[in-house]
Formats: sequence, C-alpha cells, structure tokens
Amino acid sequence: MIQDIYPHTFENQFIAETNISDNDFIFHFKEDELLLRKSDDAFYFPRKCDLEGCSRTGIFLFLLNGIRCFWVNDCVVSSELSYVYHDVKLLRNTLQKDIDWAGNVAMQLKVWYEQNRFCGKCGSQTQHKENERALLCPVCNAVYYPTISPAIIVAVLSNDKILLASGANFRRGYFSLVAGYVEVGESIEDAVVREVKEEIGIDVWDVSYYKSQPWPNSGSMMIGFTAKADDKQPIRVDGIEIVEAAWFSRDNLPNYPPERSIAGEMIDSFKVKGRI
Ligand SMILES: [Zn+2]
Repeated sequence: MIQDIYPHTFENQFIAETNISDNDFIFHFKEDELLLRKSDDAFYFPRKCDLEGCSRTGIFLFLLNGIRCFWVNDCVVSSELSYVYHDVKLLRNTLQKDIDWAGNVAMQLKVWYEQNRFCGKCGSQTQHKENERALLCPVCNAVYYPTISPAIIVAVLSNDKILLASGANFRRGYFSLVAGYVEVGESIEDAVVREVKEEIGIDVWDVSYYKSQPWPNSGSMMIGFTAKADDKQPIRVDGIEIVEAAWFSRDNLPNYPPERSIAGEMIDSFKVKGRI
C-alpha cells in the first residue's frame, strides 16, 4: 500500500522545533505543486543547504529516513534546471515510494494548517501549540487538531465470489470495493452494514477487521473489513453514487485499483488465494 515505503522510514511523532539545519529536507509548495530536485530521472527532496533563498525557520512535518522535514513558505528558487514543481496529486507513480508518500502527507498537513489559520469559533488568528501538533486560539482557548475522517471499505464475500461495485466517477469498466464515510454517532462496524445496504441493497454479517490505510489526498482513514453475504440476495444499486455492482469469481475479475490502495491489495489477495 502507498504508506508501505520500506526500506525507507517515516516517523510522524511531533518534534517542537522550528529552526532548520543545513541537512534538513525542505518542503516548499506553489499552490498544489511541490518543489523537488530532479537528477537522472529521479526525484529528491531538496535540503536546506541546496536552497540559498530559503527561510531558516519552518513548520516541522515528520522524519523521513531519520531526516527532519519542514514546510517552508518563504523560499526563492533560482531558475536552475534541476528543480521542478510536481503536482502532488500525481505523486503516486514516480516509482519512488518515499517521495510519493512524504509528498502526499506533507500536502495534507499544509492544507490543514492553511484551513485553520483562524479560529472557527470566534474568528481570531490561531497560534501554533508548542508541545504538540495543534493550533490554539489565544482568545477563546479552542484547540484544533489535524482532522482525519474515518471511512470503511469492505470486501463482501459469498461462495468464492467477491462483490465489486462501479462508482459514477469511475473510469468505465473499473470496479472496486464498497466504501463510505462513517456517520456521526455510528460505530465503524455499523457503518459497514449500512453502506453495503445503502449502496448495493444487500445484508452482510460476520464483519471482520482487515487493515487500515491513511489516505492523505482526502484526509481519510480507510478502515478495511471483510464481510459475508448471501449472493442470492437481489442487488439494487442507487444509480447515483454506484451505477453497477456484481459478484465476481477469482478468474473473471474486472479492472480494479492498483495494490497501493487498500482496495487493490484486498482484491489482489482474493485473486491469488481465493480469500482475504
Ligand atoms: Zn477562538
């Protein structure tokens, strides 16, 4: 999955530090694009010492391969050919797992900081909380933490078949697992049962946890499950969110997402082993 970047390491424990050293990595964005150094068709995160016109202070993001990473707003890049601004949404296919993952997580944090510059309760300007990743309102004392939206994704199985659905926004002929956001006041397990019923019209049981996947683009936490069902139940798609759904056996699977997504990994497992 996209967060599995071994042999690279990613540590997101917060460090209360704003001063940048020469060897630290710099994350500098131009709108939705991230500054990267390019050499021989490979990307690298620039270090502070690579960028002359770069501020000495920034917002600590995380450690990548043990090296501190900072988001820096003030950065003047000389027009050297070795630097590019890369669309973060396209940072999935560079074949450099550390670049793809760290670039996307940095973007998620940047967006959260930008969206919480002012207190949602009283409108005052927020401040960085010193000892943890949070923003504090100095007027009404409201504290804001990075928002993560829990969503379920479920592989429904019956008689050696898997239930796959095609969403209205999917490429034609592509199918995936049923997924949806957890509602306020709802358990994750109840969300699995409700989403399958709402989107496909069938009842499921034996809901079992699989794995989870942070998904930085949407700020979601995809929580994977398997569930059982009776494949003789009639399928009824809502026609809005889901346009088609069907049962598939291992040897006649349609196009589905790549293994960097939790859906792709689960469907791959079903294809290879006949189970998940
Ligand atoms: Zn406030």
